[in-house]
Amino acid sequence: MSRPRVLVLYAGGTIGMVPSARGYRPMADFAAVLRRQLAAFAGLPAWEVVELAQPIDSANLQPAHWREIAAELVARWEEWDGFVVLHGTDTMAWSASALSFMLQGADKPVIFSGAQIPLGQPRSDAPANLQGALALAADPRIREVAIYFGNRLLRGNRSRKVHADRLAAFESPNYLPLAEAGIGIVVHEDRLLRPRAREFRLPVFDPSAVAALTVYPGLSASVLEALLADPALRALVLCSYGVGNAPTADAPLRTLLGAAVARGVVVVNITQCATGSVVPGSYATGSALAEIGVVAGANLTLEAAFAKLHVLIACGLDAAQIRTQFCRPVCGELD
Ligand code: ASP
Repeated sequence: MSRPRVLVLYAGGTIGMVPSARGYRPMADFAAVLRRQLAAFAGLPAWEVVELAQPIDSANLQPAHWREIAAELVARWEEWDGFVVLHGTDTMAWSASALSFMLQGADKPVIFSGAQIPLGQPRSDAPANLQGALALAADPRIREVAIYFGNRLLRGNRSRKVHADRLAAFESPNYLPLAEAGIGIVVHEDRLLRPRAREFRLPVFDPSAVAALTVYPGLSASVLEALLADPALRALVLCSYGVGNAPTADAPLRTLLGAAVARGVVVVNITQCATGSVVPGSYATGSALAEIGVVAGANLTLEAAFAKLHVLIACGLDAAQIRTQFCRPVCGELD
């Protein structure tokens, strides 16, 4: 059997940064540094490195970057057995979520990775992350978008960056790891997505189409009103308390939300808790949201809910279609 071939796409992030007087910033021509590093590792699949036209600190990520990253992969899809996307950790879970919805039915691994400490710096986690990510990107059992970080492979659209300074920065709180690396790498096949028909989309995103709002004690109608005033807004992710409760005793707040839903803004409700699910009808405060047409987002992460809405909107669906499709699992993102 011929050696598997993996394409590594560098999109930016700490892994390819250098210290500067103002903190880490992307270095010029990291691809060359990366090629030297990969050449020094034993036992990798065959690989090549490409980079985005403008690698970024992922704190600067825009939805348009999702299209750019996905387009790079789709253009080369047939030539490679798997893909590694090196990406900043700050928005890696957002991008992995978006790519999972854009590359539905992926029949090859797309493994996001990066590092908390730049490659070449003392104690960098980059070498271990790179080697694990490349090994998993060459594994034909994996047919989905995932994040490999800190010795674990997590489903991309279930992942969140939960630690600012730990090397194992990511968790997928509502789904078990897809693979774990110790002396060997154990892939949990029963947790992987099954093969599905390939349905790739590369829509053009409107960055203003989706917003997110965390519910907090004292949230006022005027704050919500300001958010809803943007005429480009098509959907709002409400991060509510517990099983989906919000301060619905506030009549102006309730009225505003109801009016937004009535004029076609899709409002979805997810929990701000780390684990668990929105359960409509558990409390009157949650039922009031359902009554005005807010859609329950089950156990979607904020990143997955946000990205899914963006993709559905960018694909041209209307509010009624989005409301229906949002609740249906399409690539393992919710139970
Ligand atoms: N700010 C960096 C980024 O997200 C952090 C990292 O990569 O770890 O690009």
